[in-house]
Amino acid sequence: MKILQDLHIHSHHSCDSACSTQQDIRKDREALGLRHYAVTDHLHTQYNISDIESSRHDFLGHNFPAGFHFGVEVTCMATWECERIAAGDFIPKGDVPIYGFRDDERPFDGRMCIGIDENDIRKYGIELVVGGVHWPQGFPSSRTDAIDNYFKQEMFLAAHPLVSVVAHPWDSLQHAAGDWFRHRDKAHIDWSVYKDIPREMDDRLGEEILKNGKLAEINLPCVLKGPDYVRPLCMERFRRWKEMGVKFTLGSDQHSAHPDVELFSIMEKVLDDYGFTQDDFALPFEVQA
Ligand SMILES: [Zn+2]
Ligand SMILES: [Zn+2]
Repeated sequence: MKILQDLHIHSHHSCDSACSTQQDIRKDREALGLRHYAVTDHLHTQYNISDIESSRHDFLGHNFPAGFHFGVEVTCMATWECERIAAGDFIPKGDVPIYGFRDDERPFDGRMCIGIDENDIRKYGIELVVGGVHWPQGFPSSRTDAIDNYFKQEMFLAAHPLVSVVAHPWDSLQHAAGDWFRHRDKAHIDWSVYKDIPREMDDRLGEEILKNGKLAEINLPCVLKGPDYVRPLCMERFRRWKEMGVKFTLGSDQHSAHPDVELFSIMEKVLDDYGFTQDDFALPFEVQA
């Protein structure tokens, strides 16, 4: 099937290493023949809401076609982190909490939040909120704890009223399971954890996405760029969710100057192999006729 959408793209306004201009995002998507695409820069906490503001100003400064949408990618945060930031409880320039407080090893207390509210959504004209888990809450002490920790975060995002798309389900679990967040080297990435995600958890997550009217994202690099066994594990999950009635979005998660075009053509073949059709994809916003 032909891919017609890309609802997960980062521009240079994103707080990480993303570097594409919004004009290039448009040109590259037009060359790919996409009908709908969206810039979704990162916003982990209110600390750097100014990134979204500048992305929005840039977006409004062009006469972009109706198929180019404005979104944001949020992260599941611990509530205590958002509370600390709201209270100004950090050292300016020494303790910059763009990513929250990743070195604070306090245990996970189960309270979660995202870094934006309804006012931000109105103020910045945000059409879609893509929500992803990007790190463990606290430092899980075992592989089972890491899976459980990610499950709770994924379920939180799937139920959050402001989130419309659950981004890259389970991604970065390989880092949590390998204790990468303490060591930050390749030796501490454990991809094999994907084989241990209990089927029951996966099914409950799919049910939660469906029940709350959310969409599940098929993320190109997350599905296609890991070890060989990751692709079928991801695609079998999506096939089961599809059979449950879950609808999907597709995202390149581009951080580079231009998209990896080859990933689109590989994914088109993979989607055919797993029986996906255009009916399995949806848009998380109203489209003007
Ligand atoms: Zn993400
Ligand atoms: Zn992203």
